[in-house]
Amino acid sequence: MKIAIVGAIHELGWELLQSRGHTIIDISDTSISSLKKELADVSGIVLRTAQMPNEVIDACPHLQIIGRHGVGYDNVDLNYLSQKNIALGVTGTANAVSVAEHVMTFFLQLTKNIHLSDELTRKGEFQNKGNLPPFFELFQKNVLILGFGRIGQAVAKRCLGFEMNVYVYDPYVEVKIIEESNCHPISINEGFQIADFISIHLPLNQETNSLINRRSFQEMKNNCVIVNTARGGIINEQDLYDALKENKIQAAGLDVFEQEPPPKNHPLFALPNILVTPHNAALSLECRKRMAIEVCETVSFYLKDKEKLNIQNIINRKELGI
Ligand code: NAD
Repeated sequence: MKIAIVGAIHELGWELLQSRGHTIIDISDTSISSLKKELADVSGIVLRTAQMPNEVIDACPHLQIIGRHGVGYDNVDLNYLSQKNIALGVTGTANAVSVAEHVMTFFLQLTKNIHLSDELTRKGEFQNKGNLPPFFELFQKNVLILGFGRIGQAVAKRCLGFEMNVYVYDPYVEVKIIEESNCHPISINEGFQIADFISIHLPLNQETNSLINRRSFQEMKNNCVIVNTARGGIINEQDLYDALKENKIQAAGLDVFEQEPPPKNHPLFALPNILVTPHNAALSLECRKRMAIEVCETVSFYLKDKEKLNIQNIINRKELGI
């Protein structure tokens, strides 16, 4: 069966599909006209970050599954796929560790400013260390985790390793599960008020769009460090800019942006108290290998060998009755 790989993935994914006898097509031109033409006879799609609008789906009469290389799926219309009886797969077990380590890196760098110490040492100013701005510990600080799914839980474990007090806001997860993980459930507003660190692990949807806004920043402590590795748009970027500029909070770390790629002259990039990365929190080498294998297994097993499929990876399994 023919499978399209839309966007680059690690070669281990290719090898897996080849070894299972699939014909593979490699698609780098993700314009709508090209997708409509190239995908016309595929049964499965392995999809990176390109948009897959419904008019492209309509042009794929044989399509049975789209496998997302990742866990977010805001580049497809899930309801429409379900209506058309097309499965949507994600790489549910692959990327939590990589993203969680990215969050800890943001927390540490934003509080310790290692680059300033490095610069001073290289410049031969070892003796002037007293001139460096103060830096801080994570130990016994309050961290608020928004969203206690795969990544939120991985971040919580690592924060507990640093002996932080971990607070969780996720109304869709049972209190018992949060407490059994040695974390404290909390309302979002109380969380904003006590947090020294905030990390976002929510999906982007109507409920979470601009969830963190001017009002939220007003509630936060001045020393609060906020990190978003989930999706741009969950933090209102204009309001974040104002909060950082007016020192309402201490610093921010962003892996994701309202518009991706963000414009080169994005106002946030001119601020000193922000650290940005190009949506690569899940792109550690280990994670890229895991995601390539998992997404290709999901697509291939769905098309043949359904008994081998990790059904948890199929987001619309209930809608499809599988
Ligand atoms: P998940 O589905 O396992 O967890 C999401 C959690 O959010 C769930 O527990 C759910 O109950 C909770 N939630 C949903 N709506 C909520 C709301 N309105 N208020 C509070 N909680 C709510 O997802 P995950 O795998 O942990 O991924 C989390 C986010 O990280 C997603 O947005 C995903 O797209 C993003 N992500 C980013 C990268 C990256 O490279 N930066 C990589 C992977 C995932």
